[in-house]
Amino acid sequence: MAVKALYALQNGFLGIPRSMLFYGEYGEAPARIPITSYVIHTDDATILYDTGVSPRAVPGLMRTDRLAHFTDDDLLVHRLERIGLETDNVDLVVLSHLHYDHAGGAEFFRTSELVVQKDEYSYAHYPASFFASFYYRKNFDLPDYRWRLLDGDTELAPGVTALRTDGHTPGHQSLMVELPETGPVILTGDACYWHEHLEKERVPGVVWNPTLALHSIKRLKTLARLTGAKIFPSHDPVFWTTVKQAPDAYR
Ligand SMILES: [Zn+2]
Repeated sequence: MAVKALYALQNGFLGIPRSMLFYGEYGEAPARIPITSYVIHTDDATILYDTGVSPRAVPGLMRTDRLAHFTDDDLLVHRLERIGLETDNVDLVVLSHLHYDHAGGAEFFRTSELVVQKDEYSYAHYPASFFASFYYRKNFDLPDYRWRLLDGDTELAPGVTALRTDGHTPGHQSLMVELPETGPVILTGDACYWHEHLEKERVPGVVWNPTLALHSIKRLKTLARLTGAKIFPSHDPVFWTTVKQAPDAYR
């Protein structure tokens, strides 16, 4: 019983101003950031971490965001096809949180368990007004689906552990994956957009609670130091160019 492989999937790119990347920065020069998701194969489960944006949202993003970039290959279902998977083959869909660039593809997983922190699920349905524009209700208003609501850190399969990392949102979760050759990897989700957030302890610009977000960054740093884990941030354009892309895999 163990993890066998980790695949990195690209789901297109968005433009985002510095003020949304780094808390307290006001420069508006936008950066182009990747939207990312990951597949983990274990001996007895196939797990997806995050689902990108909904294909429904792509035309609007292309109209309003001159840095947005999506190809047909970037669609999550096509990325999964490239590694021989259909949506029905995915046992668990772990959602870091329910913002539109992470939960947009959840609806394609009718037979999978959708795994989200309970606090995220409830907040997303009734967000504060300042935060409502990041939650697209259609993405997660899926009452007939198999939701599994977590309350804190949880081992989901041997070597795959959800880590509670609140702050960016009220119920954010990262994922630790223990690979046989690569060693442990932490998929941070939006607890850490770029490596710079970790190195300089900078809070994401889009943030529900900056103090908790900073605690989560420190927590991930500590865990990485104690376990020797490699950190995979969610939206780091420089880091992303160094990542082995599916169909290649980390073993
Ligand atoms: Zn994001």
